[in-house]
Amino acid sequence: MYRCAETTDIEVWKRASSGGTIRTIANELLIKKLVTKVIMTRSRGCDTETLVVDTVSEILPATWYSYNESLVPTALSQFSASEHLMIVALPCQARTIREVAPNVLIISPVCFQTLNPVDIRRVLRRLGIDVEKVESVQRVHDDVLVNLQDVVRIVPFRVFWNHFKYNQHSNHFCRSCKDHFGSAADISVFDNRHRSNIICVRTSRGALVLEQVRAALKLKRSVSGIVTILWKLVTHKALHLASGLSVIVRNDRRLA
Ligand SMILES: Cc1cc2nc3c(=O)[nH]c(=O)nc-3n(C[C@H](O)[C@H](O)[C@H](O)COP(=O)(O)OP(=O)(O)OC[C@H]3O[C@@H](n4cnc5c(N)ncnc54)[C@H](O)[C@@H]3O)c2cc1C
Ligand code: SF4
Repeated sequence: MYRCAETTDIEVWKRASSGGTIRTIANELLIKKLVTKVIMTRSRGCDTETLVVDTVSEILPATWYSYNESLVPTALSQFSASEHLMIVALPCQARTIREVAPNVLIISPVCFQTLNPVDIRRVLRRLGIDVEKVESVQRVHDDVLVNLQDVVRIVPFRVFWNHFKYNQHSNHFCRSCKDHFGSAADISVFDNRHRSNIICVRTSRGALVLEQVRAALKLKRSVSGIVTILWKLVTHKALHLASGLSVIVRNDRRLA
């Protein structure tokens, strides 16, 4: 089941990367005591770290493009009979967690690549940012917010993203990834033009969760949303092919 989704709370929306759907689901489930903890990823410096949340907050983390190495070990360490967990995990992380915990609630942001940390630092330097002073970085709608020790630098997302070529600046494991849409998740969450989300409910557990949080989300059926998903799939497959061809051409040149 696909739906367009967006939080009803403007303060939450203002801090979100797209429509604020993930943080709204997290907060609503904590308010209703349907989960005891939410395991998320936040930016730290130019990298990421795991955040274990047990109280409602407007200041939950927004999207950042480093791969969070500590998410899976932290999630696994939190399993116990007394904890009801919601885990926000990328599709590859979700598959690992699902193997160990078939019944845990998993929400996956759709993911076509995470960026190589060396390249992230290189691009931030190129934008005139002292990476040693970076405390955290987040994408909020159309901007990348770089929190430095004493000031926030705002870089238009388009400017930041223009420095990266698909598959060439990603982590190596992303180049063979076939599961961008979160096959092991209960709900997968797409970005919809940096303003709202498209959600795909994959399991009956996901459908129950959506019923519980429905009042906090603006939900609507959307044909244009499904067209957007198909478009993302086609463009990313085309980019994948193009980057593969460019590698072949470069290798051929090297051989010649
Ligand atoms: C690395 C990455 C790549 C993405 N690529 C695409 C794409 O190509 N196409 C697309 O449609 N959508 C993509 N998304 C999803 C999209 O950017 C939004 O994260 C998603 O739509 C949720 O939006 P939101 O407003 O509900 O997020 P928010 O309410 O702002 O919440 C963001 C959530 O993402 C989690 N998160 C943040 N950074 C990471 C990270 N590095 N790893 C794991 N979880 C993280 C946080 O825990 C938080 O719960 C990507 C997300 C990530 C993290
Ligand atoms: S592209 Fe695939 S392998 Fe890479 S971080 Fe995203 S889900 Fe994981």
